[in-house]
Amino acid sequence: QWMGLNEIREKYLEFFEGKGHLRLPSFPLIPKDDNSLLLINSGMAPMKKYFTGEVTPPRKRVTTCQKCIRTGDIENVGITDRHGTFFEMLGNFSFGDYFKHEATAWAWEFCTKVMEMPVDKLWVTIYQDDDEAFEVWTKEVGVAADHIVRLGKEDNFWEHGPGPCGPCSEIYFDRGPEHGCGKPTCGVGCDCDRYVEFWNVVFSQFNSDGHGNYPPMEHPNIDTGMGLERLACVMQNVDNLFLVDTMQNIIKKVCTIAGTEYGKDKKKDISIRVITDHVRSVTFMIADGIMPSNNGRGYVLRRLLRRAARHGRLLGIDRSFLTEVAESVIHESCGAYPELTEKKEMIQKVISVEEESFAKTIDQGTAMLNEIMEHHEGTVISGEDAFKLSDTYGFPIDLTKEIAAENGMTVDEETYHQRMQEQRQTARAARKNAGAESWAGESDLLKGVPETEFLGYREQTAQAKVL
Ligand code: ATP
Ligand code: MG
Ligand code: MG
Ligand code: MG
Repeated sequence: QWMGLNEIREKYLEFFEGKGHLRLPSFPLIPKDDNSLLLINSGMAPMKKYFTGEVTPPRKRVTTCQKCIRTGDIENVGITDRHGTFFEMLGNFSFGDYFKHEATAWAWEFCTKVMEMPVDKLWVTIYQDDDEAFEVWTKEVGVAADHIVRLGKEDNFWEHGPGPCGPCSEIYFDRGPEHGCGKPTCGVGCDCDRYVEFWNVVFSQFNSDGHGNYPPMEHPNIDTGMGLERLACVMQNVDNLFLVDTMQNIIKKVCTIAGTEYGKDKKKDISIRVITDHVRSVTFMIADGIMPSNNGRGYVLRRLLRRAARHGRLLGIDRSFLTEVAESVIHESCGAYPELTEKKEMIQKVISVEEESFAKTIDQGTAMLNEIMEHHEGTVISGEDAFKLSDTYGFPIDLTKEIAAENGMTVDEETYHQRMQEQRQTARAARKNAGAESWAGESDLLKGVPETEFLGYREQTAQAKVL
């Protein structure tokens, strides 16, 4: 049964309200008092303190639709059917209240009764040693034993250092062999896009001491996460996330600007999906107060924005266009996220300033890189050349690598990083003398725009490197 993304979100939240849950709005993308994370990447992340008991939740049962960003998935975007850097995660949470029986039964009820998914297309995974989950799924919920798959720690056990952890069950939808890799080993848990994982139900029941001991918790928790776009993809029976109703409108906008059509050229389709995804991330990030910069979240923002701009070039767009795409994003999501309307002017200003400044960079840098590649013997671009590109033209190393790879070449990164290091030391010394440390790395055009709230440093840079 076809259902629009906005309707699905509402159905989910209403369903869990009906089961005694308090509906909370999405938390911002910037984690609060948590230096372990650069950006919120799941529904439970902003509620960690409710789980550990440090903070008392407003109710023991909560349901949310949380804005998420996963920079680690950037390389999947446009390639797999199911990953975006930005997505919405639906979740229902129990803070020491209900546990396995209710969580599984309600998940199944939502899938089969509210979404009316055909039972024979659904598969459930459990942690290999979780016999209790097997009993509950088969005897209480009534799932066929031959549609339950036991998987290992990698997929079905949640643990992040010492503290609350536990096994999980995931629900998959079989989209049919036409979406699969065709390998004889293909099945639930295969990394192709036939069996799409859409819901993760975590049974947080142990309190790990970090030394291999797992004493059970007195009041175990439930934490679930379901990708809204993925669920919509299944419900609307479309090929990938970017073809669900709300996303499709953004894709159409990109196509109009590029004077092209979606679905005619595989390479172009990837660029269209990348632009759609990255502009979504960028729009939501700016709305939450993140500004382009050279480190942490600001760097993530900058990289996403520039990558979208470059894919625009690949589509033959030779003017600034990202604000128009952002307008589409705002239009599609402002109903559920009023901050997008409130911050609209800010969002467009930041995007256009950053896009303009990058346009200059990209033209000069691409010309120089092409020159280098043309007169090149062998397949390794020297670290010195890569450094010159970044130092003289502000052309990011990731972009050099990406373009090099498209031409079957690699970059001597070791030398590049060495040169960067030397450069940084010189610059630091010079800045100290000039007393200009605070604005280091900011573009002139953005001076005067308030700085990003600054929380922690090391973890942010580490995560930003993924890009
Ligand atoms: P996958 O194995 O497909 O990468 P995951 O196991 O990393 O997914 P979880 O961490 O279990 O995902 O997150 C819970 C749910 O959030 C997933 O079942 C999926 O529906 C959704 N989700 C996760 N990553 C993404 C993404 N990059 N884009 C869209 N939805 C996502
Ligand atoms: Mg993943
Ligand atoms: Mg998974
Ligand atoms: Mg998962």
